[in-house]
Amino acid sequence: MSVIEDLTRSLGEAVVLTGDRIAERHRSDASLTGRSLPKAVLRPASVAEVAAALRICDGHRQSVVPQGGMTGLAGGANPAACDIVISMERLSGIEEIDAAAATMTVLAGTPLEVAQRAAEDAGFLLPIDLGARGSCQIGGNLATNAGGIRVIRNGVARDNVLGIEVVLADGTVVSSLNKMIKNNTGYDLRQFFIGSEGTLGIITRAVLRLRPLPAGRLTALCALDSYADVVALLKRAQRALSGLSAFEAMWESYFRFNCEAEGRQFFETSPAFAAIIEQDSRGQDGEREQFEAFLGQALEDGLIGDALVAQSEKEAQAFWRVREGHAMDRLLPSLVNLDLSLPIGDIGRFAEECGRALSARFPPAHVSFFGHVGDSNLHIAFSVPDAAQETAHQVDAIVYPLVAAYDGSISAEHGIGTLKRDFLDHSRSEAELDVMRRIKHALDPNGILNPGKVLR
Ligand SMILES: Cc1cc2nc3c(=O)[nH]c(=O)nc-3n(C[C@H](O)[C@H](O)[C@H](O)COP(=O)(O)OP(=O)(O)OC[C@H]3O[C@@H](n4cnc5c(N)ncnc54)[C@H](O)[C@@H]3O)c2cc1C
Repeated sequence: MSVIEDLTRSLGEAVVLTGDRIAERHRSDASLTGRSLPKAVLRPASVAEVAAALRICDGHRQSVVPQGGMTGLAGGANPAACDIVISMERLSGIEEIDAAAATMTVLAGTPLEVAQRAAEDAGFLLPIDLGARGSCQIGGNLATNAGGIRVIRNGVARDNVLGIEVVLADGTVVSSLNKMIKNNTGYDLRQFFIGSEGTLGIITRAVLRLRPLPAGRLTALCALDSYADVVALLKRAQRALSGLSAFEAMWESYFRFNCEAEGRQFFETSPAFAAIIEQDSRGQDGEREQFEAFLGQALEDGLIGDALVAQSEKEAQAFWRVREGHAMDRLLPSLVNLDLSLPIGDIGRFAEECGRALSARFPPAHVSFFGHVGDSNLHIAFSVPDAAQETAHQVDAIVYPLVAAYDGSISAEHGIGTLKRDFLDHSRSEAELDVMRRIKHALDPNGILNPGKVLR
């Protein structure tokens, strides 16, 4: 019996889609690098169906690609024509909010924004947040260990997970739905799967940690003269602002491009650096005055040249629109967004060296820098008119050796997938890669789970 017949007999035609019933969206994640539709798409609606699907596929040595919201930027969810996709979209819903434990138990296919709203309705903040919140799923967020804009306060996805349930390649369900903060009972199994990009198991449920919902946010946009001043302001903000929830830096060309695209002029002249500082408010008297006093002192000390404090949510959103840079997707052809980590003190020097190298190789290119500098995360926006197919690889070949020379990481938050796989040794030693391969072999001896992703 073929694997498709076996799956259809066990799960039914409503779960097993083939031929014309496979939608285009299963071809590629948001990197738009996927070329093929898979030979089947499975849409399980229960953990038991995920387990049955994997058991059958493992028996047939059939490769399987898990798909969440398809917003990934590393090609991790892209199938080959010979793969079977397991789409998690029907395994969706909030199962429980435990107010005493401050936890949410959620099915993996739940869109992030749905989970965020449910937390808010219960008076909590779900701290995982990123631009793709409307489409990405909790399972995808954990499988990629997503970062985002609030990491400086509450950490990356893995810091907000207390428990996890996973189905292994052979169909074994490992339920580790712990709700406690302290639990030192052997290996921390959840961390094997968080960030494993669907190569070690399929995440079906998670227990997420919730935080108190802030009463509001105070947001400022600052103009600075140098990267050294950006770091000095960050250190000061970390000391003085107990609720610091975002610290984002934009280099001059990034800030100017996006201000012009949005039709905004915040400062008289475009500063060398712009930074957004945001603080969670507890709704207490005097918070705004303290925030403004902090900025006033920085101004007096010459650390910042100017600062604007948002007087409304709309004004704060105007700052964030420039930082999010959505206009670039529209205005710059074949935009490449590189996602790197570097020691915070070295980011300024790295950006100068990297900018010079890219501009020398591609003289007409747009190259600009921005990032969650408080988390040591730098993004590069790169675009060149009439880019050839191999341009992205040529950019990688310039940038990643430089990242290695600075002891940085070639992926801060988007993951490895296929797009960075061949550069993984720029950030990981041979011994580390060997341990990864051994873990992969132990959990997925037949190599059916997302083959060719992360590891060769
Ligand atoms: C506009 C935009 C903004 C973004 N901003 C950020 C950002 O600030 N920070 C950030 O980190 N990322 C960001 N991303 C990237 C992306 O949104 C994240 O990587 C996200 O976590 C992917 O979730 P997803 O559900 O879309 O996963 P998918 O793209 O579907 O899959 C991603 C990987 O996870 C695997 N996977 C998916 N679901 C499961 C599961 N249940 N079990 C096991 N494996 C699974 C897939 O096989 C694949 O390898 C952004 C993307 C866009 C388009």
